Amino acid sequence: MFENTLQIKKLMLDHTSRCNLMCPQCGRVSKDQKINPGMPITDLTLQDYKIILEPFTNNKLDQIIHCGNFGDVIASPTFEETFLYSLDFTKTIRIETNGSARKPEWWINLANNGKEKLSVVFSIDGLKDTNHLYRIGSNFDKIIENATAYINAGGKAEWQFIEFAHNYHQIDDAEKLASELGFTNFTVKYTARFQDTKTQVETRKGNIVKNKDSHVSQDFSSIISQYKNFDDYVANTNITCKFKKDFRLFIDMDMRLWPCCWFGGPKYFADKKHTKQWKSFKYFLDLYGEDFNDMRKYGWSVLQHEFFQTYLERSWNNPNDKYKRIYTCGRTCGQKFEYSSGYGKNWNTKELNHAENRV
Ligand code: SF4
Ligand code: SF4
Repeated sequence: MFENTLQIKKLMLDHTSRCNLMCPQCGRVSKDQKINPGMPITDLTLQDYKIILEPFTNNKLDQIIHCGNFGDVIASPTFEETFLYSLDFTKTIRIETNGSARKPEWWINLANNGKEKLSVVFSIDGLKDTNHLYRIGSNFDKIIENATAYINAGGKAEWQFIEFAHNYHQIDDAEKLASELGFTNFTVKYTARFQDTKTQVETRKGNIVKNKDSHVSQDFSSIISQYKNFDDYVANTNITCKFKKDFRLFIDMDMRLWPCCWFGGPKYFADKKHTKQWKSFKYFLDLYGEDFNDMRKYGWSVLQHEFFQTYLERSWNNPNDKYKRIYTCGRTCGQKFEYSSGYGKNWNTKELNHAENRV
């Protein structure tokens, strides 16, 4: 995938599996709305950061991205020291958070430490009466208080809004509020997980939110007409690796190196044995051993492992009985269907303008 660390420009970290919320579709929450028992509750440490960042002295990385596969980085007890340490290794840092943990003074401090390197993405899916419907346990007033403190201290902030049937009608008002509070961006993210949400909803201003199901359904129908079924498409489609294209890699909260964030999930899924992804994962974990990608054991030499140097590319372009196609790759990076909510047609980002999102 990458020959050496010099080719890596971005690192995405799932720093922790801790969070103060319980969003129903999150990997850290099981179907019965409890903490996922298959997920270790753990954090990356300062020692881990020393291993991870050693090749990137003098700001060689373009970006460190703190995403939330299983947790929210600001909820981690090791966040402060690792954040301060990482500032010397990257040109920018992006933190994606629900924004409801910590006090305003903490957020002011974060803005002062992060200065122009840092941008924070606040994931707020609605307003006071709706955000908590998916972001279970969140307090809208506290989020706004925290975001305001951070922005007023000079911090750069983006409001990221996942659309649901229960919040479509609030997009205009949320965008307006974001602008008033000083957020620099407002992004709207469509999640294909909620196919049963309404497809056309009028906002309070009378705009019709574009039918978001249409491109998913159309693309899906097109696939089904060309392949036997979706699994046949996954097995045979041409693949363009999103992370390779972006010179990016992913490290999980247990210090495992993965080619991307979608690989960072299946090992810890609550009901992994029943997923199609796990079948592929079990195959290559049996082939290479559970610890083949453990950076605490092997550091960056993990990148030289056959999995990264040969298996992945062969599985995309020329799979055989050894280098089998991995379900996650065909599903996520097949060229004819945009599965992920964070990419392509499912992702609209504008500087406080989501006009393209409407008819
Ligand atoms: S805020 Fe993020 S990490 Fe926390 S439960 Fe929700 S989706 Fe998961
Ligand atoms: S799913 Fe596979 S092809 Fe897609 S970004 Fe991840 S490793 Fe690359």
